Amino acid sequence: MSANFQAELVACFGQPVAENPTAAMQEAAFAALGLNWRYLTVEVPPAKLADAIRGMRAFGMKGANLTIPHKVAVMEHLDRIAPDAALIGAVNTIRRESDLLIGENTDGKGFLRGVRETAHVDPKGKRIVVLGAGGAARAIVTELTLAGAADILVVNRGMLRGESMVADLAAKTHGPIRFERWPIIYAVPAGTDILVNATSIGLYPEVDAMPAVDLRAIEPAALVCDVVFNPPETRLLAAARLLNLRVLDGLSMLVNQGVIGFELWTGHPAPEPIMKNALRRPLEIP
Ligand code: NDP
Repeated sequence: MSANFQAELVACFGQPVAENPTAAMQEAAFAALGLNWRYLTVEVPPAKLADAIRGMRAFGMKGANLTIPHKVAVMEHLDRIAPDAALIGAVNTIRRESDLLIGENTDGKGFLRGVRETAHVDPKGKRIVVLGAGGAARAIVTELTLAGAADILVVNRGMLRGESMVADLAAKTHGPIRFERWPIIYAVPAGTDILVNATSIGLYPEVDAMPAVDLRAIEPAALVCDVVFNPPETRLLAAARLLNLRVLDGLSMLVNQGVIGFELWTGHPAPEPIMKNALRRPLEIP
């Protein structure tokens, strides 16, 4: 009998990285498909990032995820950057194409997949409000623009960050992107089809924090989304539910970007329900 003890490797490089739950969902997916693959959660300090990428090449690793603080710095160490990741200016996923390492960004794509496939909403032609102008917002706004949204209003507390993100993305994509500074309470206008909280407000341990928004003008068909996945039921989503609005949680984005990564690396359809379920225990979801 011939045996094969050689595992294929994927990793997450970050610092800090120990609390990143991605390994739980990827390992569950590998096991479900009977793949002898491993997902390693590896602490890599900034000064060692180039060595880590050289290590990937030496080990013939199939891919990786990047998290804080490597999403921008990794780009110079790769062979090619996907067009949307180049627009976003950050890479959170590496895939291998023969000997080449290609940088991708699945944050915005994961969000979009959730909007389309979980919430059954096509962002094409929609009027969208995005709260926040950090890395997650930038990825989401880029993908919403590429998906043909009719109007994207970015609302951010910090004027400089919001204005420069919008100016940069509008120039690069020619998309319908606007900026407004966040007032004391932002009244989300009637006619908004999708509202996205892309800030970290509500993230554990600040679970009682709620973005300063007034949702009362939004119409019932609208979709309210949160990128915060810990906890998945944020105060914003609870408030939206009370108004009978439809909601999409940050867990959907997390799982969907994991699904996209899994499929880029293995070439197999991802077992999405198994991946979602595998996150329940690490995220203490009942
Ligand atoms: P950044 O630090 O890059 O950006 C944070 C954003 O939140 C900024 O726009 C900041 O505004 C805003 N913000 C933070 N606190 C407040 C506050 N009290 N009031 C108003 N605005 C505030 O973070 P990221 O974009 O990388 O991450 C944002 C969130 O997205 C995190 O919770 C992260 O966990 C989540 N995320 C979820 C993913 C998923 O798969 N579900 C994937 C990636 C990220 P300002 O510019 O004024 O400081």
